[in-house]
Amino acid sequence: MAEKNKITSEKKANKKKQKGVFSLYKIENDKISRLRPTCERCGSGYFMANHKDRYTCGHCGFTRYKQIK
Ligand SMILES: [Zn+2]
Repeated sequence: MAEKNKITSEKKANKKKQKGVFSLYKIENDKISRLRPTCERCGSGYFMANHKDRYTCGHCGFTRYKQIK
């Protein structure tokens, strides 16, 4: 019985790790700032995926390369 309970609790922990849209926002001083850039083509509702050297939009495939200083 003890082992069964352990498995159940681990499953619950994994569920908590799921990414939500809320992780893309950061609230500072009553202001909402976006942590990711949004797609220029699709509009402000579409976030771009963060890659090592670029951002890509999963909706239209638009890619924007990060500017390297
Ligand atoms: Zn797009």
